[in-house]
Amino acid sequence: YDDRDGLIWMDGKLVEWRSANVHILTHALHYASAVFEGERCYNGKIFKSTEHSQRLLYSGELLDMPIPYTVEEINAAKDLTLKANGLTDAYVRALAYRGAGDEMGVAASANPVKLAIAVWTWGAYYGDAKFKGAKLDISKWKRPSPETIPSAAKASGLYMICTMSKHAAMAKGCSDAMMFDYRGYVAEATGANIFFVKNGEVHTPKADAFLNGITRQTVIGMLRDMQIVVHERHIMPEELEGFEQCWLTGTAAEVTPVGSIGPYNFEVGELTRRVSTEYEKLVRL
Ligand code: PMP
Repeated sequence: YDDRDGLIWMDGKLVEWRSANVHILTHALHYASAVFEGERCYNGKIFKSTEHSQRLLYSGELLDMPIPYTVEEINAAKDLTLKANGLTDAYVRALAYRGAGDEMGVAASANPVKLAIAVWTWGAYYGDAKFKGAKLDISKWKRPSPETIPSAAKASGLYMICTMSKHAAMAKGCSDAMMFDYRGYVAEATGANIFFVKNGEVHTPKADAFLNGITRQTVIGMLRDMQIVVHERHIMPEELEGFEQCWLTGTAAEVTPVGSIGPYNFEVGELTRRVSTEYEKLVRL
């Protein structure tokens, strides 16, 4: 994705897309000292821009890499980048990372923390799954314990097993993979949170070992406003068989119906469609 036109914001400057490079001794490339955000701009307005900027700063704190910008500065930089690229409907990627320093090694408190923002047009994350339901594989990789890694951060290092899970899923003709956590509970997909429906009530894993997505929190709020009961709880693998509907939530995924997870099938039901439509309306308000 490096050879195209456009402008990328890097530490206060708009840089030509093709020359938005980092040095090979960038700490983040070697030791995963990077955190990021994925956001969507609809009709010229980033949905929950401030919440995303706040989460970026929080992820930086969790990784002991304070990001030298305020929420307001980050919000303004995102808006400027969208404007500079002439985009009103786009995906926004903010990335904070430790750059190269005077020395190279694990310790990096002297390496500057850098910030970059890129924006591009990105359509439906799971293609036509919106209509027929995405096919999910079951990953062999488990979401790690919060005592193993700061699992509440949107940190690059957490995505290594996601990429591997997604590749394995795609090789089987699936769009994505569902992951269990280190205890064996249902966790999430590789870049989206998961919800289930049974007897008119909604069940979603408790976000204690994975990213508590901004879309997840938005959808829980929407459901409660609709007077629908939402259970945030630990979900056992053997419960998958009994759920009637399933969907994924995420900035890129928005609300995507799930048709199957491994051997378990779900219908793209009325509530799934309703949540998906309501979310589409809400982001464009
Ligand atoms: N889990 C993971 C691993 C993700 O990458 C994402 C996408 N950021 C989500 C959940 C959903 O988060 P959000 O709704 O804030 O985009």
